Amino acid sequence: MTDKPIENIEDIYEKMGISRKVADYCLRAEKKLSDRFSEADRVAEINQLKVLDAFRQCKVSEACFMPSTGYGYNDLGRDTLEEVYSRVFHTESSLVRPQITCGTHALTVALSAILRPGNELLSPVGKPYDTLEGIIGITPSAGSLAEFGITYKQADLLPDGSFDYEKIRSLINSRTKMVTIQRSKGYQTRPTLSVEKIGELISFIKSVKPDVVCMVDNCYGEFVETIEPSDAGADLCVGSLIKNPGGGLAPTGGYITGKKEYVDLCAYRLTAPGLGKEVGASLGINTALYQGLFLAPTVTASALKGAIFSAAVFEGLGYRCIPDATEPRYDIIQSIVLNKPEALIAFCKGIQAAAPIDSHVVPEPWPMPGYQSDVIMAAGAFVQGASIELSADGPLTEPYAVYFQGGLTWYHAKFGIIMALQKMFEEKLISI
Ligand SMILES: *Cc1c(COP(=O)(O)O)cnc(C)c1O
Repeated sequence: MTDKPIENIEDIYEKMGISRKVADYCLRAEKKLSDRFSEADRVAEINQLKVLDAFRQCKVSEACFMPSTGYGYNDLGRDTLEEVYSRVFHTESSLVRPQITCGTHALTVALSAILRPGNELLSPVGKPYDTLEGIIGITPSAGSLAEFGITYKQADLLPDGSFDYEKIRSLINSRTKMVTIQRSKGYQTRPTLSVEKIGELISFIKSVKPDVVCMVDNCYGEFVETIEPSDAGADLCVGSLIKNPGGGLAPTGGYITGKKEYVDLCAYRLTAPGLGKEVGASLGINTALYQGLFLAPTVTASALKGAIFSAAVFEGLGYRCIPDATEPRYDIIQSIVLNKPEALIAFCKGIQAAAPIDSHVVPEPWPMPGYQSDVIMAAGAFVQGASIELSADGPLTEPYAVYFQGGLTWYHAKFGIIMALQKMFEEKLISI
């Protein structure tokens, strides 16, 4: 240990491989963001208090951290955690389980719990997330809803990103049982929907057909605003615990929250008819799910700050950023159009080099099932595939856009983005 402690931030950056020029430029960009950051902090504080209050109301106690095994009957921690979720989302009932393996699984459970043969599913917001294509049967797939005689209709958004109300009205028929609304743009170019917009859409749909079950795919949206889709009329909200609401600590799991009659159906589908929520051992991970939820508002704000910062940094260099540094944000995903394959690769190498885990690994583009072109991914996560942790990826195809999200702390997100820029600088892809 011959290193002396360094106090100056730019000296620390330099020691960690960041050129002065890159650091100076980024720190200047950060200075302009104080208003945006105060807004993120305001939202985080409201959500922190909402979560804390739910913990207090539900009397979360040390006994909630006891693991259960086997059938998992009378698992106080599991049942109380579900009550906490219901209070946070202002819903009647919740299913929050390690047995829900991922977001795609949570959505599958909800869809197949509600829909019956002969029913129709409608997406009024265009094509859903890639993995849903197989579930619905948009692309033929063994076990899809289509195989059970459930049909699907889709109304695309209008070119300006607004809802095509006329089309939606024309697609709602006697068989329309359920509507799926994806809050986040995911990896598409359409805008992410605000909770307010989702509320307007749900009101419209219910005015056409009151008994349609409205489900929102809430992935990447939790705690970005002070209200959730369940506050705006959604019957079910669905998401993954290795994204926002797990706060980086949940090792696995998913949630479904909403009206009791629908959540009960989801529980019967997840476990078995008649068993429902009564079974499902928590195997000792309750503490992580509670603590993760407790941290989720500030972790989400950190990720959001990272996304805003990166937009400011890359916009300043002439790159197109979606959303840009001034637009309101409704999810934590950032996309930057990098125009060149070398830039996309350098960016991902920077994110990887800045990770707490596997920083020594160099990501390379590789062919991935389901993609036309090679894909490069950077992730140095504590939890495999956790995208609330700083992570980036992009297909090696025009326009060479990188999609990135996450950051358990703002300082790590910031360093990761600065390192991404550093790698581009070293490869002479940018001049500062
Ligand atoms: C991540 C995501 C999913 C699927 O979640 P997985 O956990 O990756 O299966 C579904 N919808 C959206 C919008 C997502 O962001």
